Amino acid sequence: MFLFFQGCATTPSAGNFPYPTITIHDASYFSLMQMCERVGLKWDYDPLSKEIVLKKEAREMRLLIGSSLFFDGAARHELSAPIEIKDSVIYTPIDLRDYIEPPACRLPEKPLSRAGVYLRSVNTVIVDAGHGGKDPGAIGRYGLKEKSVVLDVAQKVQKELERCGLKVYLTRSSDEFIPLSSRPEFGNRKKADLFVSIHANANRSRWIEGFEVYYLTESVDDDTRALAAAENQSLEVDSQNLSSKALALKAILWDMIFTENRKESVALANFISKIVARKLGMQLLGVKGAPFAVLKGAQMPAVLVEVGYISNKEGEKKLRDPLYRQKMAQAIAEGIMGFKDYCERR
Ligand SMILES: [Zn+2]
Repeated sequence: MFLFFQGCATTPSAGNFPYPTITIHDASYFSLMQMCERVGLKWDYDPLSKEIVLKKEAREMRLLIGSSLFFDGAARHELSAPIEIKDSVIYTPIDLRDYIEPPACRLPEKPLSRAGVYLRSVNTVIVDAGHGGKDPGAIGRYGLKEKSVVLDVAQKVQKELERCGLKVYLTRSSDEFIPLSSRPEFGNRKKADLFVSIHANANRSRWIEGFEVYYLTESVDDDTRALAAAENQSLEVDSQNLSSKALALKAILWDMIFTENRKESVALANFISKIVARKLGMQLLGVKGAPFAVLKGAQMPAVLVEVGYISNKEGEKKLRDPLYRQKMAQAIAEGIMGFKDYCERR
């Protein structure tokens, strides 16, 4: 249903078209990724060849930016207008929907928020304990390792959420190394609704203490860039590392997806940060955007929580205390439940 988008009144599915549309070259377009997400299509985009591959079970479709021709298996079809890319989002003419979601087997319509973001239910959550194995993460002055603190907090968050009836997957449940890029991929495979990565900070002055929640963005200040660089170092110990060029290309791809999830990521970050600040009496250092590699590629709202500063003497002492970690986990879980409630009631 359209809320304020105009211009599609004469098109085939206009009456109940479930995606926000924009007009390009006098034709109506909508975001291809939004449809993929909604109907469970896997997709891949190669920025060099500009080819998009959509997959669902045995079916494979190939489309090309700038072209109205596409292949559904071996069958060739033509759209009313070419596929376009705009502000890092791939747009397709609205008639592609009839090929992908034939009218008879469409999903029930879900209302859209004013921003064009789906109202979603939250049932499955990925809790990602940062680092692990050969990657210890930050290490405190008295030897506390980020990888062990965050694993314990993640497991406690899992327990809390499961008690509330959510399905929760951990990206790791032991001290093992998991490449950064596999983490959001794991979430995509599990068709998770949210991705929450848990870290402890040690990147700045050892006098700083507090708590931060991040969502993914590329435009940041220098401090945030430094933090992201520290957290992203794990890429360098990543044996399945991509070359930096491949990463840059991947970044373009990631942009498309996170643009669509950013609003909800920011909302989730706000819920978690408010509750943690209140329950733990912690100084909230902010909800910020940062280019964290671990959030890139997540096809769902994703945030990174820095549960405290392991570099700070008091911070390290607190993070060593299982009771404190339990309180932290409870507050994070409560923030997630608050967001779930917000989404489902919107
Ligand atoms: Zn970390």
